[in-house]
Amino acid sequence: MQTRLRDNLAQVRQTLAEAAAASGRTADAVRLIGVTKYVDLETTQALLELGCHDLGESRPQQLWTKAEALASFSPRWHMIGHLQRNKTKRTIPLLSLLHSGDSLRLLQAANDDWTGDGRLQALIEVNISGDSAKHGFSPDEIEPALRQIAALNRLQIVGLMGMASLDGGRDQAQKDFAALRQLRDKLRDNCPDEISLDELSMGMSHDFDLAIREGATMVRVGSTLFEGLR
Ligand SMILES: *Cc1c(COP(=O)(O)O)cnc(C)c1O
Repeated sequence: MQTRLRDNLAQVRQTLAEAAAASGRTADAVRLIGVTKYVDLETTQALLELGCHDLGESRPQQLWTKAEALASFSPRWHMIGHLQRNKTKRTIPLLSLLHSGDSLRLLQAANDDWTGDGRLQALIEVNISGDSAKHGFSPDEIEPALRQIAALNRLQIVGLMGMASLDGGRDQAQKDFAALRQLRDKLRDNCPDEISLDELSMGMSHDFDLAIREGATMVRVGSTLFEGLR
């Protein structure tokens, strides 16, 4: 397992580096988040041992279990899926970054439940594709909410997160990523000082190269890493 996982990780890192170079950046300008929601504890640990310390989970219970079991490796945990407000209390203190800041109410709950040092880093999730099954702020809801978000003084907003349309293929994905970057650029004109929009979390297994070309600073890659493991 370790050999195949090592090869997959090397392949992903190479694709990442090439896409970063194509956008005039070095590989260390783009953070790889290994999404471990499909795999068990043993495989998650194997990924950590290969040096992937940023891990993403989309279900709070899985994150709790793995965070406890793998605490000695000190991974940086990224919550990438919808977080119900009754699960924030237990989840928020474990996080390095909340990607799925998908409503004002959730951001308020996260702010209330953060007990760590400094501020909790969080992203504003945008429903770029307008897909009704997806969570997130619609693009035109964000600007009017920025002042209220900025007032949440235990949160440090560092950027935006988004996903490409489910069924649009790579061409549509590229357009969705470009739209997220353009939205970010536009929001910057009127952004309160407390909020930074430098980070763009976008791109998954089938489109992370495109996302990097469009300016992603973090990519969330799962299935490609674990291909062929069983
Ligand atoms: C599952 C998931 C990913 C990873 O998807 P893959 O296609 O397996 O790489 C990335 N982001 C979010 C929000 C996810 O839920």
